[in-house]
Amino acid sequence: MVINEGPLAGYRAKRDHANTPEPFGGQKHDGDPIFVVQKHDASHLHYDLRLEMGGVLKSWAVPKGPSMDPKVKRLAIPTEDHPLDYADFEGVIPEGQYGAGTVMVWDIGTYRDLKSETKGAHSIEECYDRGHLDIWLDGKKLKGGFTMVRTKRGGAKPQWLLWKKKDEHAQLGRDILLEAPNSALTGRDLSQIRSEEAEA
Ligand code: MN
Repeated sequence: MVINEGPLAGYRAKRDHANTPEPFGGQKHDGDPIFVVQKHDASHLHYDLRLEMGGVLKSWAVPKGPSMDPKVKRLAIPTEDHPLDYADFEGVIPEGQYGAGTVMVWDIGTYRDLKSETKGAHSIEECYDRGHLDIWLDGKKLKGGFTMVRTKRGGAKPQWLLWKKKDEHAQLGRDILLEAPNSALTGRDLSQIRSEEAEA
């Protein structure tokens, strides 16, 4: 049963359960919270960053994708909360459906809230509300500290910036999106996902 209230109401309202392979559920699990970066070949190729928080995946569209170079700040536009099961969704959203196109799990792993490790820290949910996250990603590709700061609040389009902290995992002058373009789950590129999921 799909209930149209709570944090996932926006997600459900945009999607037709019967006509998309996208997941609609998910259970909290033990251990560190998960993160995922999905490469989404929709009307424009973009990346979607999602962080597990409060039982859902808080989500941002990152048009140019994440960078491991601390000098590169990337725009991140908040989108609707996604269900936890979305983290390992890789497949094709059919024509005519919201977000139609191919979705790849470009990177996946767990994250830690770096602020929670200092005394008297706010919870990750409070940091999100305040618009400033300091996180450590343990992905297959993205590793180390990252900062996310909201630069514009309210209005039609709140905006955040995402950038790599300077640490031993930083990669100056390199482009991880080009160096590691394929799925972190299956090794497939977008066209393989498109053709294999179409056959399925
Ligand atoms: Mn997307």
